[in-house]
Amino acid sequence: QAKAAGRNTLRFFDPKIQAAALARSRLEAELRQALQRDEFLLHYQPQLDSDGLPTGVEALLRWRNPVRGMVSPAQFIPLAEDTGLILPLGRWVLEEACAQLARMAADSATAGLSVAVNVSALQFRQATFGADVLAVLAQAGANPRRLKIELTETLLVEDMESAIEKITMLKSHGVCFALDDFGTGYSSLSYLKRLPLDQLKIDQSFVRNLMNDPRDLAIVTTIVALGHALGMHVIAEGVETAEQRELLARCGCRQFQGYLFSRPLAQEQLQTHLERMAAP
Ligand code: C2E
Ligand code: MG
Ligand code: MG
Ligand code: MG
Repeated sequence: QAKAAGRNTLRFFDPKIQAAALARSRLEAELRQALQRDEFLLHYQPQLDSDGLPTGVEALLRWRNPVRGMVSPAQFIPLAEDTGLILPLGRWVLEEACAQLARMAADSATAGLSVAVNVSALQFRQATFGADVLAVLAQAGANPRRLKIELTETLLVEDMESAIEKITMLKSHGVCFALDDFGTGYSSLSYLKRLPLDQLKIDQSFVRNLMNDPRDLAIVTTIVALGHALGMHVIAEGVETAEQRELLARCGCRQFQGYLFSRPLAQEQLQTHLERMAAP
């Protein structure tokens, strides 16, 4: 008994917690290898204006693991953030997205479209973030005006002054900024006032029950009015039905993204899809 106890000091822990910790460290190890093994890819989801014409795409990270299959970013991004792996990964996303920008610029049907990239807190907080973005753009030969960076509220409250500095610097080169998942984080109207953002993204949690919940309708109406009053574009994400789109339009929303229009697409499908959307 004593011998067994000495060998297995974890025996007092909850086996469920132990299993979860093990699963997590396995995932971490696989995540570390995934970059080298080229297992990441980007999917692109179109964003549309009121006329149904594409204005750009959002790059969404995917992990294709030979054993696990397609892993959702919701499952591995938090871990990548905790382990710092998000830094090389975020860099890769930026490079890949800028390469996509250059590809789209080469085709007259898609030349005017933008690519939106999600950036995590740790990545944005790096002192070199601004310079890194410019270097990646230059390397890819991509137009800074077509790059949009999506930030979240949680990321901005941490250090307002340096956030404003970074955003302002990149904006002077033409890069655009969107505030993602708006209304779900530590929203404060005083920072909305101070940040030079181009676009607010209405979180899909407000869109989901828009038809049935008058409180969601009130919130969406207010966000749209607020964004426009502050000189920003407002886009709704997670639009799944024509009824939602109709109601959003009646709230004054003029940009849309969601399964109603298109799921996130692999790069190979994107070009033909966009050309079809842009055709009258
Ligand atoms: P997000 O930036 O808010 O992206 C929107 C999410 O909603 C995406 O999930 C997208 O596939 C999904 N979506 C789009 N249209 C619809 C719809 O009509 N209905 C529903 N139910 N969902 C819809 P996804 O791709 O699983 O990404 C989840 C989150 O992971 C993203 O939320 C973003 O926060 C994060 N993420 C994705 N790619 C990256 C990345 O490259 N870097 C970082 N740091 N985070 C990323
Ligand atoms: Mg996003
Ligand atoms: Mg979002
Ligand atoms: Mg989200």
